[in-house]
Amino acid sequence: MPELPEVETERGRLAAVADGKRIVSARIDDARLTRPEDPSLVAAILEGDRVAAVDRRGKYIVVRLDSGNDLLVHLRMTGGFRYAPATHERAVLELEDGSRVAYRDTRRFGTWLLTDDEDAERLLDVKNGPEPLGPGFTTDFLARRLAGRKAPVKAAILDQRTVAGLGNIYSDEALWYARINPMKPAGELSREEVAALRTGIRKALRLGIDRQGADLGDGAYAGGRMQDEFRAYGREDEPCPRCGTPIAKTRVGGRGTSYCPSCQAASRPSRSSRQSSV
Ligand SMILES: [Zn+2]
Repeated sequence: MPELPEVETERGRLAAVADGKRIVSARIDDARLTRPEDPSLVAAILEGDRVAAVDRRGKYIVVRLDSGNDLLVHLRMTGGFRYAPATHERAVLELEDGSRVAYRDTRRFGTWLLTDDEDAERLLDVKNGPEPLGPGFTTDFLARRLAGRKAPVKAAILDQRTVAGLGNIYSDEALWYARINPMKPAGELSREEVAALRTGIRKALRLGIDRQGADLGDGAYAGGRMQDEFRAYGREDEPCPRCGTPIAKTRVGGRGTSYCPSCQAASRPSRSSRQSSV
């Protein structure tokens, strides 16, 4: 399932091809993509419009058009853009310079929502907290979002209104960097732990963007190298890169969760109590 780094990689590639170009023809073959809107109607509105910019907000790709419309693309499980003919194409845009942009989605959970810019901003703000790599994602903000919550911290940070764009991979990685147990109730994190979590989230996401996302071998996000950087995710029974303890796997909030039972121990003493015991 694509998370912020995979979506950002898709965004960058789409921007490189489509930025500033007019859409000379649009074809949408899958009614699920645009429902409840009629796909042929959406395609007809897109035709003739020009791509003004390709942005991202959380896990949404935001295709801004000269008309003032925005196309909000959510890739969900397996959606993505292809620039050569591919299997499982759900829509095809042809651009004025002859470029062909296909939307491919094997599992068909992705969505395209065409709306005016004002409604798009409203919807994106309701669904997403601040961008985790932007200035609004402060320790204060994260502390407020986690305060008083009994839910495990892993479940809490998967809420897109707390951390826009985070999913299962990068939350496991972030918690490993922060040395926080994924089952720890969110409201019990110390200020120091919240700060470490914010740093861990940003570190995992920056690394993911730098490696062009994770390629999990299913063909959906081919070419990414983040899988070579995993410290906890998908490394069950392999030694923790920090302490050598085998990585454990459990379920948190219904999601498979990998963590180090030693350096992310549930009862890890805080730095202050460690210092006082020395
Ligand atoms: Zn460890």
